[in-house]
Amino acid sequence: VIEIGTPEHSKVTTCAYCGVGCTFKAEMRGDELVRMVPWKDGKANHGHSCVKGRFAYGYATHRERILKPMIRAKITDPWREVSWEEAIEYTASEFKRIQGKYGRSSIGGITSSRCTNEETYLVQKLVRAGFGNNNVDTCARVCHSPTGYGLKTTYGTSAGTQDFDSVDDSDVIFVIGANPTDGHPVFGSRMKKRLRAGARLIVADPRRIDLVKSPHVRADYHLPLKPGTNVALVTAMAHVVVTEGLIDEAFVRERGDLETFQDWAGFVSEERHSPEATEAITGVPANLVRGAARLYATGGNGAIYYGLGVTEHSQGSTTVMAIANLAMATGNIGRPGVGVNPLRGQNNVQGSCDMGSFPHEYPGYRHVSEDNVREMFEQLWGVPLDPEPGLRIPNMLDAAVDGTFKGLYVQGEDIAQSDPDTYHVTSGLAAMECVVVQDLFLNETANYAHIFLPGSSFLEKDGTFTNAERRIQRVRKVMAPKAVYADWEVTLLIAKAMGYEMDYSHPSEIMDEIAGSTPSFAGVSFDALDRKGSIQWPCNDDAPDGTPIMHIDGFVRGKGNFVITEYVGTDEKVGPRFPLLLTTGRILSQYNVGAQTRRTENSRWHEEDRLEIHPVDAEDRGVRDGDWVTLRSRAGETSLRALITDRVAPGVVYTTFHHPNTQANVITTDFSDWATNCPEYKVTAVQVAPSNGP
Ligand code: SF4
Repeated sequence: VIEIGTPEHSKVTTCAYCGVGCTFKAEMRGDELVRMVPWKDGKANHGHSCVKGRFAYGYATHRERILKPMIRAKITDPWREVSWEEAIEYTASEFKRIQGKYGRSSIGGITSSRCTNEETYLVQKLVRAGFGNNNVDTCARVCHSPTGYGLKTTYGTSAGTQDFDSVDDSDVIFVIGANPTDGHPVFGSRMKKRLRAGARLIVADPRRIDLVKSPHVRADYHLPLKPGTNVALVTAMAHVVVTEGLIDEAFVRERGDLETFQDWAGFVSEERHSPEATEAITGVPANLVRGAARLYATGGNGAIYYGLGVTEHSQGSTTVMAIANLAMATGNIGRPGVGVNPLRGQNNVQGSCDMGSFPHEYPGYRHVSEDNVREMFEQLWGVPLDPEPGLRIPNMLDAAVDGTFKGLYVQGEDIAQSDPDTYHVTSGLAAMECVVVQDLFLNETANYAHIFLPGSSFLEKDGTFTNAERRIQRVRKVMAPKAVYADWEVTLLIAKAMGYEMDYSHPSEIMDEIAGSTPSFAGVSFDALDRKGSIQWPCNDDAPDGTPIMHIDGFVRGKGNFVITEYVGTDEKVGPRFPLLLTTGRILSQYNVGAQTRRTENSRWHEEDRLEIHPVDAEDRGVRDGDWVTLRSRAGETSLRALITDRVAPGVVYTTFHHPNTQANVITTDFSDWATNCPEYKVTAVQVAPSNGP
């Protein structure tokens, strides 16, 4: 029973969990949050919510929050509480000492998709202008960086094409590598509503997710592909579209780059890409692939929604481009009901990418080597800037192991638990001389930290988040920061102590700077957001009210670019020693590594991670439902209980990664996307054996 007091005042703010971006009225009594009420005027949720946004806010006041800065000389020493002044001074002196000894590029920073746009902007500014290098990266590296690369290469901008409302006009919905009813519940419900009203459904997923078969919703096609074969599957669908004459010729003639289209059409027409020829690769019967391709191409408005099952592969960027090709070739771009729509995992994945937290791009996706852009930022920030891209997260860790990268500032991210190949991550962290972690809790990364700076929850600060449909929404401070400072203020303190002063008295001033320097944000301000409720970028003189649907009259890059998408199998292969393929996902009631949901009072938050295994594979190994098993890969091993189910095909096992004791990322390997280094979380060759538990 949740005791609810009488609210005295309220503020509208935005959920800090997933990329749907539901807005809530936070009802307060004094400084206590008593209730989160889904906001009826919320443009992303229209008054709906899931359990996480509505009930899972207790972590903000959880007893395990760290509210005082702490330092220690060695990671084996006990922590010592210190004043903010001492912690900041120590941070700056350590970073300066390291740069003096090892060079300007020996330190860097990692931002988080949990943080606001304004906080993210500040961290990348601190690194570029204060540290003097481009060694800044974001946790979006490990989820949707292939979306950024793939959609920019094909369409010219690194973002989804539609607003959520668009799904109401879809006739065919194609979900690939996403599980919206668990991962994006409010939008998943919206999708189901459209399906109940008659839209047709194609699901490509190794696992039978709820959408495939649930009350009132049945997929017309479920394509249960082998993990790691997305490119072969989508290219086979394109083969059907081209060879059966299902191309939207008028659209392609008007909107596509005809030279790249001809090359692409010739490529996908080759017999080796037919559904029959690729059946042995994907494991999907050719007649299902042909049927799904015909339905998508001819069923009316076709919309594609995808998630991490597309991006977190060694060919993540290639799959994004294969999807983009398919949508262009069938004319499914640039109007309501169609489009290519990445379902972003965390609340501000889109925003953290928009804000320039990749090592090669300034805010607005402009490359650091573009002279005119760099000169503009040099003038704005008052310092010379490095024209060379910096290090990505995995490269920082490699360089740390090699002894050339020595200092790291991590804001709101737990790379030791959430990044793949845990042993490599912790080896890199352990090799550094100064790791600064800024977080709500002593997370796994903090085990390797020398300085801990208390973070602030979304309830304790002002700012903005940008959801999966490019919708910028306000985050409003409903209580004072528990540890004195909001995250953005801590970054300012570090910058000042490093000798690079940044002068803002409120996050609205940071947004004003973003708007003044980033064309797609030119019309965005806190005032405009307060008046309009939300704004979808681009918002500028050409689109003063924002842009719900992109690429209506033309692609941002001009003509749509068709890209050859050759399937290259992952190096992570099954064999006698590791005969099963592991893939991973989330459940509705938990969120990522559970740092927040596990610290909220609700027994469902504490559900354990289970290993889903097909009855045939279980029987072969003598495993019964609920038994403990050891899950082992070439990277490491862990123990968890088995859940026997035919949701997964024989040869495939599946687990979630919400609990630190399961440590699913001990299992995952260091393979990554060829273009962006996004880790290949979704394919790991494993063995499963009965065990006595941990
Ligand atoms: Fe929050 Fe996502 Fe749930 Fe909405 S659907 S309440 S944004 S977790």
